[in-house]
Amino acid sequence: MKRTNSEKLFETAKQYFPGGVSSPVRAFKSVLGAPLFMHHGKGSRIWDEDDNSFIDFCCSWGPLILGHANDNVLDAVQQALKKGTSFGTPTRYENTLGALIISNHRFIEKMRFVSSGTEAVMSAIRLARGYTGRSKIIKFEGCYHGHSDALLVKAGSGLVTLGETSSAGVPEAFANETIVVELDDETALQEALHRYSGEIACIIIEPVPANNGLLLQRKAYLEFLREICTQNNILLIFDEVISGFRLGFEGAAGMYEIKPDIITFGKIIGGGLPVGAYGGSAEIMKMISPDGPVYQAGTLSGNPLSVSAGIAQLSACLQPGFYDALALKTKMLADIINVYTFKNGIPVNILYTGSIFWIAFSENCVVRKASDINTEALSKFKYFHAELLNRGIYIGPSGYEVCFVSAAHSIDDINAAAAIFCEVLSLVFNEKYQYNA
Ligand SMILES: *Cc1c(COP(=O)(O)O)cnc(C)c1O
Repeated sequence: MKRTNSEKLFETAKQYFPGGVSSPVRAFKSVLGAPLFMHHGKGSRIWDEDDNSFIDFCCSWGPLILGHANDNVLDAVQQALKKGTSFGTPTRYENTLGALIISNHRFIEKMRFVSSGTEAVMSAIRLARGYTGRSKIIKFEGCYHGHSDALLVKAGSGLVTLGETSSAGVPEAFANETIVVELDDETALQEALHRYSGEIACIIIEPVPANNGLLLQRKAYLEFLREICTQNNILLIFDEVISGFRLGFEGAAGMYEIKPDIITFGKIIGGGLPVGAYGGSAEIMKMISPDGPVYQAGTLSGNPLSVSAGIAQLSACLQPGFYDALALKTKMLADIINVYTFKNGIPVNILYTGSIFWIAFSENCVVRKASDINTEALSKFKYFHAELLNRGIYIGPSGYEVCFVSAAHSIDDINAAAAIFCEVLSLVFNEKYQYNA
């Protein structure tokens, strides 16, 4: 595969940007070669600057549930664009998207648009603190909630620990307000609540943790979280920046039929343009400025282009059978690969839910918490990734990233990709395998 143009562009980019990128994972640090610079995309495919084409299972990290350059999304953006890019005033577009979401999502009565998932989560945490008058929060090891200070915190050693910062520049005092526990562990959570009784504002979780592998939770565990929050007057925040509008229009909350107090959105809600949102009951949301004392604002919040893209995309998601078709294609892909790896003794399992799948380098099909992940087996991932690229399949450049199926992936795409996944797995798991660049 020729990468000359991408390599040149990357060398130039490194002169301007730290690591040559605008977001770290794009630098291909844990895989081989220079990152591919994309030129354009259509449907399930993307084309790079060297004119290589790929079936894309990254889908911009999840937002593109209709695939690339969807005609309805492009039309909606173009219509809005002609009228101006931003006004800093309310527009009717926000009403349309608000109505579309609130009338089809049983757990959202009021919402606020922001510009990214990070901003949505950061604001939701402030809201929970403002509403409860408490300052500590609980998060789970292996869940990602964007890059705000309070959430760049990892577990220390021990069952219940005050967080340790996972980034330079985050004051220790901030990290001390975040308690980190393992997923799937009722005892650890009870211990945390006991130790910090009366101090916890909220528990935040990705109900379908999909940023550190795919760590599917037991429904009973999520129900336990709901109950323990209610008993202790703690708000439960579902961070549905990935799972929202992905596992169904009502996301994971709808799938598990669990009502969180606040839900955060991003990714799909903006149709590939920058948007985030958070919402919940009218009673909690009335704490937000200008109705209430919790301040939160944004110059470009509810941007007309982003919101128009969101309207077009979410309208398509509401069509009957939309999510069933996505889930069916994902199951097809996973079944083909899982049968193959099982028959051939390859220690890999495709774990999936809805249209999210993760290629787990593990024989184990139950991976519920960060410490269950076989980190050693992931050493083969970089070869797997390079061989996939060579055969026209694009996935996120890290073994911890999940993949996405879009409405634009055809059955032919699924079959072709499944055959390549199997071929590449048998190649890199062969004892005699050697990578040729
Ligand atoms: C992507 C993501 C975020 C951060 O969203 P950005 O738009 O990248 O700021 C937060 N939470 C979850 C669960 C995410 O997947």
